[in-house]
Amino acid sequence: MMKSPPRPPILEHAYAPQEFRRLGHELIDQLAEYLAEAQSGVLRPTLPWKEPDKCLEYWSQFRAHGNFKELIRQTLSNSVSVHDPRYVGHQINPPLPVSALASLVVDLLNNGMGVYEMGMAGTAMEHVLVRTLSERFGMPKTAGGFMTSGGSLANLTAMLAARARLTDDDVWQQGNQRPLVAIVSESAHYCVDRALRIMGLGTRGIHRVPVNDRYQMRTDLLAEARSTIERQGGHVFAVVANSGSTSTGSYDNLESIADFCAMNNLWLHVDGAHGAAVCFSPKHRHLLSGIQRADSVTLDFHKLLMTPAITSALVFRNDQDSYRTFAQQADYLFAATQETEWYNLARRTFECTKHMMSLKVFSILACHGTDVFQAHVEYLFELAKTFAEMIRCHDRMELAIDPQANIVCFRYVLADWNDEQLGRINTRIREQIVRAGDYYLVQTSLRGSAWLRTTLSNPWTTTEQLSTLLDLIDRTGQQFR
Ligand SMILES: *Cc1c(COP(=O)(O)O)cnc(C)c1O
Repeated sequence: MMKSPPRPPILEHAYAPQEFRRLGHELIDQLAEYLAEAQSGVLRPTLPWKEPDKCLEYWSQFRAHGNFKELIRQTLSNSVSVHDPRYVGHQINPPLPVSALASLVVDLLNNGMGVYEMGMAGTAMEHVLVRTLSERFGMPKTAGGFMTSGGSLANLTAMLAARARLTDDDVWQQGNQRPLVAIVSESAHYCVDRALRIMGLGTRGIHRVPVNDRYQMRTDLLAEARSTIERQGGHVFAVVANSGSTSTGSYDNLESIADFCAMNNLWLHVDGAHGAAVCFSPKHRHLLSGIQRADSVTLDFHKLLMTPAITSALVFRNDQDSYRTFAQQADYLFAATQETEWYNLARRTFECTKHMMSLKVFSILACHGTDVFQAHVEYLFELAKTFAEMIRCHDRMELAIDPQANIVCFRYVLADWNDEQLGRINTRIREQIVRAGDYYLVQTSLRGSAWLRTTLSNPWTTTEQLSTLLDLIDRTGQQFR
């Protein structure tokens, strides 16, 4: 027998199970304390702001001297706390503890998920989750899909599938043969614009349809949009709808858009990264009415469904469509088998190695069931309605629109200020509040000026805290009079 080379002691130590056990127990205690403290919403800033260069300097000079606990302590106290009830910023939700624990398992197992052999359990879980979604959407049995790394990548993948199905051209071999155009809402997420440009369609390949006063796509303009594009020599291949939009959480009229797509043989993609989560709420399910007619739907579990990022699904009404996108040989990965095997996922995803993200969601369903999704969505939507009412009743606040989801946009107003001045003041108010660290809220651009934007993400957020936030905005605004 040939002798193994001596195993370096540093590796022996770094992989030691007993050390993992010790550090792990300490870590869970530390995180449980963090969670309790964050939920109380009083002890620490929700956003401990540091100027970027200061932050870089801090971490450049940081030495933990092998002290993992200290590293985690400093990481926690220098990061945004999404479990803090005063976090009302971007759409990320506070992850459920079971899901965060499942993430640890995902990372330790490190199953790759590109080929079935490398991620058996995760692949099957993924299949179950996609089926759960397609059933919730009311899609036929032919539906299918997969999980992928983010809503942005899911949207790009959907656009690639649309192009592969609806054009006779062999884009894979020949590149774009015709000037293809996708019709999107004016309030589409910026990643849709990126996706179409990545596909080589250029500025000409994106036709933006204006929105109505509730920021929903003006479906009455679709037919005219198509004629205009075709008159100019373009070839429409897809329409992208929002369920709901990123800025305001507005849901497009899917029935009407689906009618238009059916009549013109166009691919309907629903960007439900944020809002398709209402498929778990009987109360709000109506917002997705028509989604069963979509060719593809994007949903981020890491937005409204309490899952750590990145955990996105792309669901196709006709599973076959998802196999054409990357119909390319990779002989070292795939033995020559049937075209449409559901279990070798990298045939259909851009990723090769892929995070075993399904366990993060599957763990939630296994421990809490879909009831927890329903409770969360309905609680936050109700809270958003209440917050909107509080804003409406406030003399110096203006509500942008009645919220359809858990996103509430508003601004501080003074009678004799114009839009441009108000935009500037609200930007400064937000900056000051965020730098102070007590609340984290963001801003968005609506009707050409800046508005404050909140996403109510946390079941621990109370109307008292929201009322304090309004007071704080009011007081900060007074300084700029
Ligand atoms: C957040 C969001 C995206 C982007 O998804 P990521 O998971 O952040 O890549 C796309 N579309 C909409 C409507 C979103 O809200």
